Amino acid sequence: SPQNQALHERRNAAISRGMSTMLPVYVKRAQNAELWDEDGRRYVDFAGGIAVVNTGHVHPRVKEAVLEQLDAFTHTCVMITPYRVAVELAEKLNSLVPGPSPKKTMFVTTGAEAVENAIKIARAHTGRPAVIAFGGGFHGRTFMAMALTGKVTPYKVGFGPFPGDVFHAPFPIEYHGVSVEESLAAIDQLFKYVVEPSRVAAIIVEPVLGEGGFYAAPKEFLQQLRKLCDQHGIVFIADEIQTGFGRTGRMFAMEHHGIEADLTTMAKSLAGGFPLAAIVGKSNLMDAPVTGGLGGTYAASPVGCAAALAVIDVMQKENLCQRAEQIGVRVKARLGALQKSLSCIGDVRGPGAMIAMELVKNRDAHSPDADLAKALVQRSAQNGLVLLSCGVYSNVIRFLMPLTASDAIIDEGLDILERSLREI
Ligand code: PLP
Repeated sequence: SPQNQALHERRNAAISRGMSTMLPVYVKRAQNAELWDEDGRRYVDFAGGIAVVNTGHVHPRVKEAVLEQLDAFTHTCVMITPYRVAVELAEKLNSLVPGPSPKKTMFVTTGAEAVENAIKIARAHTGRPAVIAFGGGFHGRTFMAMALTGKVTPYKVGFGPFPGDVFHAPFPIEYHGVSVEESLAAIDQLFKYVVEPSRVAAIIVEPVLGEGGFYAAPKEFLQQLRKLCDQHGIVFIADEIQTGFGRTGRMFAMEHHGIEADLTTMAKSLAGGFPLAAIVGKSNLMDAPVTGGLGGTYAASPVGCAAALAVIDVMQKENLCQRAEQIGVRVKARLGALQKSLSCIGDVRGPGAMIAMELVKNRDAHSPDADLAKALVQRSAQNGLVLLSCGVYSNVIRFLMPLTASDAIIDEGLDILERSLREI
């Protein structure tokens, strides 16, 4: 493929190797769940820009909202002369995000920044320094977000020192033999020997581990965290950056459990492809920082806010939470059938359309096969399917297709996946 190849060579010469490129597929155009590369090859997109295009590539309603905003104005800076779409989006998010009212919103630009600012808010509110996070968790690539991130490679290699007063406990993953009790016992030990709970500002947790491998936190675990936070005046932060906006079959994953976080971080699918992120939480917490203490030149970009309002409208009008459930059932049924004839598929799981398939050397031992995952991603691309892997052991194939994808295109992608799996 001449154009792709030429661009890849230029890319290697022009862009830092610190930023990896998984596939030498240079996208020229995208529509809903399909991509076309520079050489005119078509791909089914099961990566969704890493959980960003839940409403599909270039949804006509989102495009229209963006064009309308571009015509009006692109940027003024919300901290100088604000605008209607930021207010409307904040009101919308305050009503959508689970948690006690009244709520308030704070906008930033990326997921990592949302995490940073959630910690700033928790510290300002409590006056305490420490934060507890979980092994295998991923919260972004800025310094505090890196410190909170449990997975070391490649995110933290060579970048220390990291901010202090961050402590990790194991995330309960039944598949890998880590129980809820074990995880809670580790927090108990931290409280007893390492950091008194009265010094802890926040506990931050992903309701479903994203980069760490798509493992859902058991309900009783989240309930116990909620209880610990209530008991010790600790701020409960749910990082819904990857799980948010319908991916798991609910607007936010915490809704599955009826548990309310104090602060929720969101980004990725919020604006369907425009860099926009938010923190939503109890008003008294959100108002803890001094006026002017939070912000950012591009915080609450008007184009992003207009896109986000359209994304939420599309999600509601097209019942995309329900559609996520349907997609999950369809994909899991097909992968479950494949699992019967292919011993390399170790586990297939949900929730909703946050679907994962473990690739293993030995199913009984749950022994991860990262090489196979890598080979599958490469072969699938050659066959016209964009796939993503994840996991602490990089052996989990994750499915993040647009929730607007039709059954026909999902089946086409699954056919390519099956063929690729049988070829390698
Ligand atoms: N938190 C979670 C759960 C994520 O999945 C991610 C990104 O993958 C982040 C935070 C960081 O978001 P961003 O890459 O927008 O900084």
